[in-house]
Formats: sequence, C-alpha cells, structure tokens
Amino acid sequence: MRYIEPHGHMVSRTTDDYTDMAAAGCACVCEPALWAGFDRSSVQGFHDYFCQLTDYEPKRAAKFGLGHYTWLCINPKESEDVGLAKDVLGIIPKFLDRPNVLGIGEIGLNKNSRNEMKVLEMHVDLAARSNQLILVHTPHLEDKLKGTRLILDVLKSDSRIRPERCIIDHVEEHTVQMVLDRGHWAGMTLYPESKCTAARAADILETFGHERLWMNSACDWGVSVPLAVPYAALEMRRRGWSAEQIDSVVYQNPIRFMGQSPKFKLI
Ligand SMILES: [Zn+2]
Repeated sequence: MRYIEPHGHMVSRTTDDYTDMAAAGCACVCEPALWAGFDRSSVQGFHDYFCQLTDYEPKRAAKFGLGHYTWLCINPKESEDVGLAKDVLGIIPKFLDRPNVLGIGEIGLNKNSRNEMKVLEMHVDLAARSNQLILVHTPHLEDKLKGTRLILDVLKSDSRIRPERCIIDHVEEHTVQMVLDRGHWAGMTLYPESKCTAARAADILETFGHERLWMNSACDWGVSVPLAVPYAALEMRRRGWSAEQIDSVVYQNPIRFMGQSPKFKLI
C-alpha cells in the first residue's frame, strides 16, 4: 500500500512514528501549524516554530525517507489575541517562499468567537494576496456545524478565493455535504477517541463519494494514531473496495489537491 499523510503534527511525534509510517507505505507527510499544547507568549515563539516546520522537521522526515510539507498560520486556539495574531501574520510572508510551504493553515475557528473570525479573515486575505492554498480547521462537537457555516461564508465572501484551492478539514456526517457543495475539498480526521473512526470515514466515503475527500490522522500531542490512514484503508478493503479505489482516496486525492501548489513533489 502507498499513502500520503496529509495532516500530521509530526513535531509532537517520535522517530518510531516516522519509522512505522514509512514501513506502512507513507510517501510524504504534510504538517499544518498547530497549537503547541500551550499558548505561545510572543511572536518570537511562532518564528521559532515556523523555523522548525520549514527547516528542522523536513530534515528529520528525510532521514526516514519521507517528504515533508507544511502550512503556516497562527492557529484558531491562539487567535483571541488579535494584536499577537497581527504580529504573527506579519512574519509569515518571509517563510512562504521556503520549498516545503504549501499554503496557509490550519486556520479556521475554535469557539466561533468574534476575534477568531477577525483573524480568520486576515488569514484568508493573506492567502488571497499571496496566491496560497488554504487548509481549514473546523471546531469540535457542538460548535462544528455553526463554525463550518461561518467559515464557508468567509471563504465565499472573498471573491479572490477559488473554492477548489481550499480544503475544509475535520468534516463529519453533518458537515461534509455543505463543504462539497461549495466546491471545496473535505478532509476527515481519524481519531481513536473523538472525531471520526475508520468505520465512520468509510461510511462517509460510501455515502458522499470520494471525488474531493481525503483522510488524515492529525497525529498530534494528544491521543491519536499515526497509522490511522492505513488502518482506515484496511477497513475499506474489508468492505470490498478495490486496491485502485483505495489508492485513489489515500494517495491520489492528496496529490490532486496539494499538487495545485507547484512545490508539491513526491521524493
Ligand atoms: Zn491539526
């Protein structure tokens, strides 16, 4: 099997995880900027994190034969401080030309607050001005439906944004259709305790089609499984999906979306 991990927070994972992913057939991993488990106290903290994502982590991944790409932003969880967010947005442009940066992400909403909305709009504006792909995080549980609607409206209201260049991640049964209807890509996050299980993800693929959908493990510093994508592929095989159909979801689809960036190449 070959697959791409399109959303993995590898700075929080061990080298054993890289080994397991490579052994399972992972071709490359793509890492959106994330909350670190604590709020960073200054713009300098983000500067260092962006250096880690664009310099150190690709070298670490390469030691295991894996390509590494990244997305930059201040994440929604730290977007309450609009002043800090403005400072962080100010340093992002100087990283955008780095060879492994695919775009702006994971932006979006966490608690659907007014300040989060403001910072989301600032990121969308930056992506539009600099012609970047966009990767969006949608809120959890009871905030997801409302948050997804708000995010879709922000993207729609900016006429410079091409919907096929945006992926809305962490979709579930009640949000996937509205995302696809707007012309965006949709991502499903496979988590052992929350979000989507492999069985739910397979149900969603069988219900809504797999034209513009991908699956990811998110594998961050919380309880998560770096091999969640190949495990979901096993569930698909158990249900009778052909090897070609599975390949189109776990390998070809991430290439089709991220290949819209000229920087995305498989090593
Ligand atoms: Zn994430």
